Amino acid sequence: MKTKVAVFGAGGRMGAEVCRAVAADPELELVAAVDPHHAGLDLRQVTGVDLPIQLGASAEQLAHADPDVAVDFTQLEASRQNLAWLAEHGVHAVVGTTGFTDADYARFEATFTRSNCVIAPNFAIGAVLMMRFAELAAPYFESAEIIELHHENKIDAPSGTAMHTAERMAAASDAWAPDPTTNTVLDGARGGRDVGGIPIHSVRVRGLVAHQEVILGTTGQTLTIRHDTTDRTSFMPGVVLGVKAVGDRPGVTIGLEDLLDL
Ligand code: NAP
Repeated sequence: MKTKVAVFGAGGRMGAEVCRAVAADPELELVAAVDPHHAGLDLRQVTGVDLPIQLGASAEQLAHADPDVAVDFTQLEASRQNLAWLAEHGVHAVVGTTGFTDADYARFEATFTRSNCVIAPNFAIGAVLMMRFAELAAPYFESAEIIELHHENKIDAPSGTAMHTAERMAAASDAWAPDPTTNTVLDGARGGRDVGGIPIHSVRVRGLVAHQEVILGTTGQTLTIRHDTTDRTSFMPGVVLGVKAVGDRPGVTIGLEDLLDL
């Protein structure tokens, strides 16, 4: 039997891509789509997917479709509300929306008791490997900085991937050299450094998709680990894997690496 899938944010860049990926997978059935600002429009118009589905305005409007799994690529506050609804109604969630806090994660742990939730700040396999390589390299270097680069419409900074990378590097090593800067002429010039003291710099430029560089340094050498996403389809194998795996992962799973056994 096919897994029934609903998509939140179907009118967005990622959500529309998810609709196409789900519709193209023989084991999945796209049964509902939600996007308040595109509500009432045909799925075909919005995503090009030729199924008789009208976009709904809110989570309540996907109840009739009885989905097994809902995918959410929306905005932070919308996603919080969608996840609360999914947990309450026992629908599995696969979440790509970024910007969640530790308090959000704690709430998801507490509320996803009837269904499961997979949250990944990055569904691209190359990005997952980049994070793993950065974590492996961390203990061998004294300095590290992260530069994340995204398209001009990204509204949160730094990216969830950059935060997650810094967290994993900070967990792998706490022996980072202190920042030598004593005179900051321009506020923010040394980036944000909330996680383990590892600076994160965010770049927003038209024409980019999603990119990240981790630069590590020690005496006489540097190591640069870089990942480039050149097309949003790069995220889809990870999203489809999440949709197929979420039913067997009780509670909340954070990061695609868990599903890939990395
Ligand atoms: P986007 O194009 O702005 O799409 C977001 C969509 O969600 C918009 O169509 C928006 O509608 C809609 N929306 C807003 N409130 C909603 C609600 N309550 N229910 C359903 N839909 C709602 O943004 P995007 O580029 O697709 O990115 C979406 C999220 O995914 C961001 O947080 C981004 O950082 C994240 N992302 C994650 C990954 C990953 O691999 N995890 C990859 C890329 C992006 P309106 O615009 O009309 O308000």
